[in-house]
Amino acid sequence: MNAPNKSGWKPEMNASEDGMHQGPATVTGNRALMLEEPLLFEIGHANETGVDLPEPQFGANRFGGFERNAAIGLPGLSEPETMRHYTRLSRQNYAIDLGLFPLGSCTMKHNPRLNEKVARMPGFADVHPLAPISTVQGALQVIHELGEWLKALTGMPAVAMSPKAGAHGELCGILAIRAALEARGDAREVVLCPESAHGTNPATAAFAGYRVEDIPATAEGRVDVAALKARLGPDVAAVMITNPNTCGLFERDFKVIADAVHAAGGFVYCDGANFNAIVGKVRPGDLGVDAMHINLHKTFSTPHGGGGPGSGPVVFSEALAPFAPLPVVVEDRGQYRMIEEEDAGENHSSTFGRMTAFHGQMGMFTRALTYILSHGADGLKQVAEDAVLNANYILRSLDDLLDAPFGASGPCMHEALFGDRGFAEGLSTLDLAKAMIDEGYHPMTMYFPLVVHGAMLIEPTETESKAGLDQFIAALRGLAERAKAGDESMKQAPFYAPRRRLDETLAARKPVLAWAEDEE
Ligand SMILES: *Cc1c(COP(=O)(O)O)cnc(C)c1O
Repeated sequence: MNAPNKSGWKPEMNASEDGMHQGPATVTGNRALMLEEPLLFEIGHANETGVDLPEPQFGANRFGGFERNAAIGLPGLSEPETMRHYTRLSRQNYAIDLGLFPLGSCTMKHNPRLNEKVARMPGFADVHPLAPISTVQGALQVIHELGEWLKALTGMPAVAMSPKAGAHGELCGILAIRAALEARGDAREVVLCPESAHGTNPATAAFAGYRVEDIPATAEGRVDVAALKARLGPDVAAVMITNPNTCGLFERDFKVIADAVHAAGGFVYCDGANFNAIVGKVRPGDLGVDAMHINLHKTFSTPHGGGGPGSGPVVFSEALAPFAPLPVVVEDRGQYRMIEEEDAGENHSSTFGRMTAFHGQMGMFTRALTYILSHGADGLKQVAEDAVLNANYILRSLDDLLDAPFGASGPCMHEALFGDRGFAEGLSTLDLAKAMIDEGYHPMTMYFPLVVHGAMLIEPTETESKAGLDQFIAALRGLAERAKAGDESMKQAPFYAPRRRLDETLAARKPVLAWAEDEE
């Protein structure tokens, strides 16, 4: 392993060697406020520790032969060394609090601090899932009220609050569909997903035991209704359609599709991860949706990325409501309780079971409800309008320079989609994305959806100002011009990041997951 060591730490690039930086290389490898940072294992020593404890006085050892017989092999550091290590690393991260995070389909919007304040109130933050119901009435009220909002906003009669992410919600919806089909003795085997589907859709259907078949897209980036209708039949359990879809377009024929699916005895699953584009404007229940997950961590602003947390409540139609999972929170004259068991005599005898051990992501419920209440119904409608306006501003400010494959399909919704057509030979979407890092932006979603060559999917969200968007557009225009002119230096980008181009293939094929002391 060619890792730098403590004594001979070398930054990956001397500040001046590429001619892009002013000034000499520094002894430390630091560049002013950009501090280099070795691995924890390179700073610490196994024989050091940040605390001094007296030698333990053990009596008889009761480990029964399982006691540790070798050093644990972790580095020891003092508290300030440890703090600085993680703080320095965190400064090398891009974050929504630093700038625009244009990841399409991810809805990386600013998270109002009010949400955080409420989520940290001890009455919410410190509740235990096994606490007696009488002591957590406020927490149950939050879950219940949020569920009522989600039902009202979607126009659907039932909700399951426990799923813990969008993909988990998809599974919840598909399991309810399977339970409904089994209840009528109808063993259907196929789930249809459009070509542009988010990868979680076919994965969910396959995980639930269905065979997945593609539905083609039209040239304008929407589901091919004729092809879909032709495929419907007694073996089709459900269609899973994202609306607005991952080309950033509203599926105008959704109601026609839903009616056809229902007539053929199937169910309609809507991937509602992009609900932020239509919240307050469209009620999916009116379009014939049977089940839809809502990503609280996207539409309702709770922080995500870096692996979590998430929350994916699912709303259900009348037809699927009896099969929804437990628990559910119910209100009786101001008192809240949980229905945990299906034999509670409250019409939950057909439930397909549970998605999680407890009740869902409390911290996300408090954040989402805070966000909803601070916007109000009219404010949520404006969220959707502003998110769509911002995305169209980006689309129309770039479509003369960047190929917009569905630019002629009408206005986009919450995200703008571009392709790499017109780039000079040898330059790719990846090169442009890496050059964005030098401009101080997190790259957009790349190479997704698959229906567009070299796809670049940009979602600004409603939280960006016009000035912020103008700067982003100016940066992207500069990069697009370089990519079209064949500026080979883009292949070396990023120049200014703490790390440059990593060998992503090697990292994927031969990941080094454990620290090993240098052998030499
Ligand atoms: C984000 C997203 C998902 C998955 O949500 P997770 O919370 O990451 O599991 C599914 N579909 C679409 C369209 C999405 O944008």
